[in-house]
Amino acid sequence: MQNNSEQNKTNSPDSPSVLAEQSEITFESFKFNEELQEGLISMGFKKPTPIQQQAIPVILEGRDLIACAQTGTGKTAAFLLPIMEHILKAPTRHLNTLIIAPTRELVLQIDQQVDGLGYFCSVGSIAIYGGNDGITWEKQKHALREGADIVCATPGRLIALLQGGSINFDHLQHLVLDEADRMLDMGFMDDINTIINYLPKKRQTVMFSATMPPKIRALAQKITSDPVQVNIAISKPAEAVEQQAYVLHENQKLPLLQKILENQDYQSVIIFCSRKDGVKQLEKTLRKTENSMRAFHSDLEQAERESIMRGFKSRTLRILIGTDILSRGIDVEGVSLVLNYDAPPDPEDYIHRIGRTARASRTGTAITFINPADQKKFARIEDLMGMEVKKMPLPEELGAGPAYDPEANRKEFAGKKPFRRPGGGKNDRNRPHARRK
Ligand code: AMP
Repeated sequence: MQNNSEQNKTNSPDSPSVLAEQSEITFESFKFNEELQEGLISMGFKKPTPIQQQAIPVILEGRDLIACAQTGTGKTAAFLLPIMEHILKAPTRHLNTLIIAPTRELVLQIDQQVDGLGYFCSVGSIAIYGGNDGITWEKQKHALREGADIVCATPGRLIALLQGGSINFDHLQHLVLDEADRMLDMGFMDDINTIINYLPKKRQTVMFSATMPPKIRALAQKITSDPVQVNIAISKPAEAVEQQAYVLHENQKLPLLQKILENQDYQSVIIFCSRKDGVKQLEKTLRKTENSMRAFHSDLEQAERESIMRGFKSRTLRILIGTDILSRGIDVEGVSLVLNYDAPPDPEDYIHRIGRTARASRTGTAITFINPADQKKFARIEDLMGMEVKKMPLPEELGAGPAYDPEANRKEFAGKKPFRRPGGGKNDRNRPHARRK
């Protein structure tokens, strides 16, 4: 894993709400088109987040940009707003902007944000992603023929369109790669290179990545020209997240989870497991006592995934169980509890996961179960955040748990590395990112 803990320690995490209070820069100072300004106000954006403060002027100026910023920082609007402003200033009848993102969910989210920000103006986007039926595929192709300003796409489906001649980027002016590190982790490097070959050389390129390992820097160097670099790395979760951990044995996890779920104050819950199998197993077990609960994983049909997500967002579904596929890019407001049934593989994943709660100034709780094999892993997470997470006493009826002694447990479990690629093999494009060690 790339280690940016030092850098992380010196940068503050700043949720959109926190940052907004800190700065003097206002959205008005960017002098956006009035309708665009109206759109962002209607989205409830009052002040630009740090990444928006730094990225918007650069993109408005037409410069290339490499931004290190994670989900939850307001990064989507940081690239959408200035690009939409460019489009409004010089409208054309051609595809103007291509945004590439790793997953369907993220593509849909970006597309929805264009809808929201562009509600009062005429900028339109099309979402292009795989895994849907033939009718949707035809609709996507039809929409492309009709034209749009912005195309948001996953790499695989985009390549199919490019190779089939259904899409023409000859007049493209802006390219955005969102969550570039995740795309590389998911094996999209070759696809990205292929796509770039179809694009005009003269264009503005904007790249967002949660982390900046050497591979990403190399890609950035190849596809950008004299880029400005900005860095809003998240190191700590938003302060509104109440973090707790239980140190326990594997067989104590399920009864403890059931006890925690009895607390109906937790109205909206995401449970993270490290593997898809674990997600399915837990769903099966919990189904006996919990009706309002669904597993979310890459084996589900796209329509089913969308319907589950809608149910969760609208609060008709109380509990969602998933792997890290849920931790990045899924924009669900106001989750009251994030529960790490398995400790996350690395510190950045932890921050991403618990970033699902306490979004946009709400408070939330993040609970992590730490079995002996995961103690060392969790200690690293605490190191990165520069803080210790409160260890909660186990309910008496569950019996005693192990002591929290990461060093001792590291020796005991040396050589028993947990499986680190939940969600499928190398070719499963929906699998959550698996970091390099
Ligand atoms: P993102 O990092 O793009 O996933 O954004 C995280 C969340 O912050 C989304 O729900 C956005 O709608 C919200 N957001 C983005 N910019 C702002 C802002 N300036 N003020 C308040 N909320 C924002």
